[in-house]
Amino acid sequence: MSEKDVYVELAGKVQMPNSRWIPMILKKLITPEDGRMLLELPLSVDEFAAKYKTTTGEAEKKLEEFANKGVSIPLEKEGVKKYFCVSNVIQIHDATIHGALNKNYHPIPMEIVEMWKNFRETEWFETLKMMEKLPTAAHGRCIPSWSTVKDNPELTDFENLKTILKNSPVIAVVDCPCRWLQVQEGTCDKPTFTCLSLTKGSVKYIVDRKIGKVLTLEEGYAVLEECEKAGLIPTAGGSFGQPRQLCMCSVPECIILRGQVMYGYDLWNRSRFDAVADPEKCTACETCLSRCQFGAIQVKDNVAEVDRNKCFGCGLCVITCPSEALSMKLVRPMSHLTGEGATA
Ligand code: SF4
Ligand code: SF4
Repeated sequence: MSEKDVYVELAGKVQMPNSRWIPMILKKLITPEDGRMLLELPLSVDEFAAKYKTTTGEAEKKLEEFANKGVSIPLEKEGVKKYFCVSNVIQIHDATIHGALNKNYHPIPMEIVEMWKNFRETEWFETLKMMEKLPTAAHGRCIPSWSTVKDNPELTDFENLKTILKNSPVIAVVDCPCRWLQVQEGTCDKPTFTCLSLTKGSVKYIVDRKIGKVLTLEEGYAVLEECEKAGLIPTAGGSFGQPRQLCMCSVPECIILRGQVMYGYDLWNRSRFDAVADPEKCTACETCLSRCQFGAIQVKDNVAEVDRNKCFGCGLCVITCPSEALSMKLVRPMSHLTGEGATA
């Protein structure tokens, strides 16, 4: 297999066989020989050592190098750890950027991060198209900011951010791979250490790769509070149930929300709540206009109005309204979350 073919075949492994940028990113990270080894995964350390006639120490070193660079994901099942080749574009995007940011390898991390930026500008749409075809229940969803819905008696555990953290076996935080570059460039001033992982497997990965920090419950709550202040939209993968991860991001930095808001892809479900404005209390100060990243609020005739068709149900406008004129109203049934007849 030629050098070019190896990188192209690996791009196919992450479901981007026609990508221009993914083979270039891989070429910066691994040699063609490494690429051929990656194509042979999954393998355990012992299997890798036997296949390449080397010691287990050398085999482990090479497999760990792949994992640190974010081109392989180690998974442990029934006491046996195997290294898998990355299998989708979000996985390789996040893992290689985390490896670069945390300087888990040399060389040239920033060059790779820049290439990902180019990928997002030119090829990301293909991935969004694939995501749009998933069934509604498999789409991610917005979760309302905790302080804006905490007193609603109909709030389920899966919509209550504090309860979600409380029910998680473990919590860890990592840098947001979408927003980090924009913050470095000075085009975004929001915090980046805000992506919350909530499963034992993902937290073990974070600890092993040294790419984040394990949090206490109180520290997790502090991240939620910081995100409310900063105006970060809480979202989770999967429409229903206990989330495995909480993403706190913004438009246009989030690679998924930008597709939804700026390009009209139907990707993530809004929450079951809409913001509503009380015309009696509104002073037309317009604070809410910049808080809403979905263009859902207008101030007309000195009164704020929320467009139901655009409101994503994040609650960020409610938090900063100085007159308490905005509140969250439950407007969608449970079936909106379960996918049994999703509602707009
Ligand atoms: S922030 Fe509150 S008071 Fe100000 S315009 Fe918006 S709804 Fe009205
Ligand atoms: S109006 Fe905008 S900021 Fe307010 S809840 Fe809806 S989407 Fe969020």
